[in-house]
Amino acid sequence: MKYRQLGNTGLLVSEVGLGCEGMIGGTPEHVRQLVDAALDCGMNFFDLFCAEPDVRSNLGEALKGHRDKVYIQGHIGASWQNGQYLRTREAELVTAAFEDLLQRLDTDYLDVGMIHYIDNEADFNQVFGGWFIDYVQELKRTSRIHHIGLSSHNPEVALKAVQTGLIDVLLFSINPCYDLQPPREDFNEVWTPKNYTQPLTNIDPIRDTLYKTCEAQGVGIVVMKAFGGGDLLSEKWSPFGVAMKPEHCIHYALTRPSAACVVGGFRSAGEVYQAGGYSELLDADRDYAPFLKSVPLHRFEGKCIYCGHCAPCSVGINIAMVNKFNDLTKVQDFIPESVRNHYELLEHHASECIACGQCLENCPFDVPIIEKMQEAAEKFGL
Ligand code: SF4
Ligand code: SF4
Repeated sequence: MKYRQLGNTGLLVSEVGLGCEGMIGGTPEHVRQLVDAALDCGMNFFDLFCAEPDVRSNLGEALKGHRDKVYIQGHIGASWQNGQYLRTREAELVTAAFEDLLQRLDTDYLDVGMIHYIDNEADFNQVFGGWFIDYVQELKRTSRIHHIGLSSHNPEVALKAVQTGLIDVLLFSINPCYDLQPPREDFNEVWTPKNYTQPLTNIDPIRDTLYKTCEAQGVGIVVMKAFGGGDLLSEKWSPFGVAMKPEHCIHYALTRPSAACVVGGFRSAGEVYQAGGYSELLDADRDYAPFLKSVPLHRFEGKCIYCGHCAPCSVGINIAMVNKFNDLTKVQDFIPESVRNHYELLEHHASECIACGQCLENCPFDVPIIEKMQEAAEKFGL
């Protein structure tokens, strides 16, 4: 397993983490098997959105003796009422659900206290304009949560949240299908087949801006829905009409700026081990570019998606990283010091490009790489 910095939190998180969908309805033994497999793979990041008491208790039991080895991201605003899940902004329910979560997990704190999802403007205004955000900030001040997170499926709302400067972590739904879609307040619309019947091209600009803004502001992204709830793995159910492999989905998500960890709701220890092996795969095995190129109706073209398929460069330039750093300078009017530092640390720089054209033959998406190298060289002066 490889580990990445989660924005500016200081947390070094595993590239793949464990979500809780696969724990729902499972026995304590089943949850223990998932957790043991995750720990065995080196996963150290656990997302718990579920408010169901049994899931919380079973996870708490399975993590006994391991608390100091894992980061727990628990959701605030998810409650359990009359035997059912309820997303709530009611103070009494929210605070009770938070106390219940800590008690069932047998812990004093959450590493990330995640504001349970906000997908529309009215809810955003309610949470950030009222008692909820004060409560979450108080939890952080008193170290009951160490970092503030927010989950969303809507890039417009997520971007507003990031721009408040109040959140440290964003839990966001990322996969190549969602990335083609414009922001929508109703998340179900993003997956509706009719929205994929027309040709779509390239990542939606607001989603693109969101990822780059997170990187620029040091907000770490944890990825959910990387497999589209499993639909992307099926030719029959994927909106693309072509099946992806799990490692392609994970790699796509982790090549977005600021993405540090993909959490999956794995349903068996076997699924955990399969996803947990991602970090050890060769680049060729997780290369999603041929898949995206094979999609019949929708296209990625002319814009770098950081897939790395053009490697190797004849002089050793990491073209995907140069393009990413160059793009990161475009969300503000200046070059952030962190981006400049990362660029300078590259072994080879854009100015070394000899315009041989080898990469152009390898890029499936017709990116004008030589021009991009010239642009980056001018911008960074290197
Ligand atoms: S230039 Fe093309 S092949 Fe290279 S990383 Fe970008 S999109 Fe991928
Ligand atoms: S054109 Fe430039 S970036 Fe592309 S392979 Fe040649 S030297 Fe590398």
